Amino acid sequence: MMGGGYGTVYLVGAGPGDPGLITVRGRDLLERADAVVYDYLANDALLAYAPRAEHIFAGKRPGGHLLPQEEINRILVACARRLSCVVRLKGGDPFVFGRGGEEALALADQGIPFEIVPGVTAGVGAPAYAGIPLTHRRITQSVTFVTGHCGAGQDEGPELSRLAEEGTLVVYMGVKRLAHVVARLIAIGRSPATPAAIVEWGTYPRQRTLVATLATLEEESRRAVIDPPAILIIGEVVALREQLHWFERRWAGREEYPA
Ligand code: SAH
Repeated sequence: MMGGGYGTVYLVGAGPGDPGLITVRGRDLLERADAVVYDYLANDALLAYAPRAEHIFAGKRPGGHLLPQEEINRILVACARRLSCVVRLKGGDPFVFGRGGEEALALADQGIPFEIVPGVTAGVGAPAYAGIPLTHRRITQSVTFVTGHCGAGQDEGPELSRLAEEGTLVVYMGVKRLAHVVARLIAIGRSPATPAAIVEWGTYPRQRTLVATLATLEEESRRAVIDPPAILIIGEVVALREQLHWFERRWAGREEYPA
């Protein structure tokens, strides 16, 4: 940064995939950015809004961790030292299961100015595009967002037992641990007949949605070869998709979104 001091780092939610789902504020910041530090899960089509910025990939792929979180934090600090407008573009919403909190804390620690720009989280965007209302007046009054993967040392996922007993359940990062997640839910009393869906690459033209029951979900997902990123939606509302699945009917399988 000219004259010492730091630039500002904006933690911007990119939305779940469809580039049209970024906020107006997020897009404005991309247009002004000197650097964009982007994720594996942020659609890189959004970089087109930042043609004059440096584009720095800080992706962590599920399974193959590319960059440790400390390294990403270091990159953000280094960018803020030399540039005035740094956009950290993160998939979905920056403060929902995306370690945005850790990044913001690292910036706060260094006294670097930052702002948070929320985004459409995958747990909201993917069900919308799959035609699954998360709540419905006559069916369920609550929705729980939960992670199926808790990181090293917390493999038991105790939160599944406390919060997952009723209502709609949206499970992030659950595909690799599907057998465990399903067994757990049945163990705490969810009926094996509960409708359940997996949405893979939600809101992208390649979106696929699989509908099953809690009892059959794991086997069906293995048969369909579902890979991350994918989100699980469990609850009676899943049945509404039969009438409401608009997106796959219109766009799925295309290379691009029609204008
Ligand atoms: N901050 C992100 C979540 C990061 S955790 C958000 O708010 O959406 C990563 C998990 O998010 C993935 O394992 C997957 O469960 C979910 N996810 C992200 N993008 C997705 C997409 N396009 N479709 C389905 N699931 C997605």
